[in-house]
Amino acid sequence: MTLAKYKEKRNFKVTPEPSGDAEAKKATHPRLLYVIQKHRATQLHYDFRLEFEGVLLSWAVPKGPSLDPSVKRLAMQVEDHPVDYGGFEGVIPEGEYGGGTVMVWDTGTWTPESQSADVAAALKKGDLKFLLHGKKLHGSWVLVRTRGFGSSSAGKSWLLIKHRDEFASTEDIAATEPRSAVSKRLLVDIARDGGGDVEKAATGDPQTKQKAETRKPASKKPSVKSSATQAKATRGAKR
Ligand code: MN
Repeated sequence: MTLAKYKEKRNFKVTPEPSGDAEAKKATHPRLLYVIQKHRATQLHYDFRLEFEGVLLSWAVPKGPSLDPSVKRLAMQVEDHPVDYGGFEGVIPEGEYGGGTVMVWDTGTWTPESQSADVAAALKKGDLKFLLHGKKLHGSWVLVRTRGFGSSSAGKSWLLIKHRDEFASTEDIAATEPRSAVSKRLLVDIARDGGGDVEKAATGDPQTKQKAETRKPASKKPSVKSSATQAKATRGAKR
């Protein structure tokens, strides 16, 4: 676990992100931090982070987490981040690494399902089971390493999957819970407050009337997919 790659990619004279030089609160931090940062960079993605041995292990999840155990979400492992990065919400200047708007989408703690001493072994094996205690995400989850595409992603491709438990659901939580877990702001608000690209940030927020229309019936139906199809049919009938 090292922050060398993290530091190499960033110019801390320009970006407001933490430099990672602050002492990690290892000893005084009995619980392990869990955080998901919604990041409207070149592509919208969700950065999934788990504290382990003084850093945040990090995966970029393009579509964000799914509460549906039948849905596997690609999670590309990226460089370890400093633990205090987990509190970062704001604007990374355009032209800098990861330039764009960052939101703390969910935050809390996590517990390995195996003994914590076995986390390193689980990571090496490519099969990490854990419990999330967040504001939005709860219950049992797994990260499983998978075969990547091409040599550059070798060993970096994982799948993030919800286990079946009382927190499993077909709710599209990325769509229904789009606001910051710490400030309740949307990406557009964070960009505006931080002097960022407001229009770009807004494309990562739920889109206006049309989407709201397709979401409405979803609350009454158990399956998002079937209600979306129904909404489409309803719109077609109106014309
Ligand atoms: Mn990112």
